Amino acid sequence: MKKIVIPLLTLVLLACAPMQTASVPQGNAAVDETTSTVSGPDGLKAEMPADQASLWLTSATAVGEIMRFLASDELKGRDTGSQGIEKAAQYIEQFFQKHGVAPYYVSYRDTLSNYRKPAYNVVGVVEGNDPDFKGEYIVIGAHYDHIGTVKPENGDYIANGANDNASGTTAVMEIAKYFGRKRSNKRSLIFALFSAEEKGLLGSVHMAKNMKAEALNLYAMLNFEMVGVPLRSDSYSIFITGYQKSNLAAISNAYAGENLIGFSPTAKKYGLFARSDNYPFYKEFGVPSHTYCTFDFTNFAYYHKPDDEVAQIDLEHIAQTINKMLPVVEGIANGPAQELKATQ
Ligand SMILES: [Zn+2]
Repeated sequence: MKKIVIPLLTLVLLACAPMQTASVPQGNAAVDETTSTVSGPDGLKAEMPADQASLWLTSATAVGEIMRFLASDELKGRDTGSQGIEKAAQYIEQFFQKHGVAPYYVSYRDTLSNYRKPAYNVVGVVEGNDPDFKGEYIVIGAHYDHIGTVKPENGDYIANGANDNASGTTAVMEIAKYFGRKRSNKRSLIFALFSAEEKGLLGSVHMAKNMKAEALNLYAMLNFEMVGVPLRSDSYSIFITGYQKSNLAAISNAYAGENLIGFSPTAKKYGLFARSDNYPFYKEFGVPSHTYCTFDFTNFAYYHKPDDEVAQIDLEHIAQTINKMLPVVEGIANGPAQELKATQ
């Protein structure tokens, strides 16, 4: 998440709120047909009984594997233009290739034209399976850059960015894996890992402007930021930024089958809608463009600090967040025409 300044007193007051951890039950099976079809990129198909539909879901083990690589000291905080972020880009490309997600452009790389060092968004696509809907696109995104190295604290100078935003990157990669293997989406899904978010949303600004110039038929932009620890709320598990700007929360909850998405007064107060990669898409296209997030400045003490490391992250929470979002993304991808609408 792009840096914002919050008065210390407010944080202290907010931190004194009752500590209630949202209870996140195990996600329902992502498919409810009697059988589901596995269709890989090589055209291999196999029938799978519905009681094995949980095989589509992710796990804390799978999430942990990605998180430990992206937030490792070896990647030195994934500063835009660094050798560390280059390793992250290659890792994401290989992951996409392995799980049936095709390059969106001539390669997976979208070179930024608005940053002084070489910088790339990593962008894949899973084409829709319905002739009437596949011309509509949903961008599912997260930034994979972070702030690199910082002033040392207790001898540690690497800002690993586990919560910000290896967690959102992992969510997008696992959602991409799901659709890359299952191919159950009518609308086409673009999976975008943005660079240079921490430099001022540069990767998403670059991509949104290009897509607008290419007249992409964009249905919605769903962004993931800081989903590494649970919110302290017992009424919902995730908030979206810009809650009132579309019917996304209601539609998401309908497909989730529970009150998964809520309104965060803190997100509104600090204008988080305009502080992540959903915003350039909203500006260019005016379609529903929001960030799903479980960080509200009260539930994680290491924002932009060297201790934003995997050791401070709840991997089970990330896995459950992804598993609960899979039927939401699938529902939106397959929902009726113009179901999702920006507020007029
Ligand atoms: Zn950040």
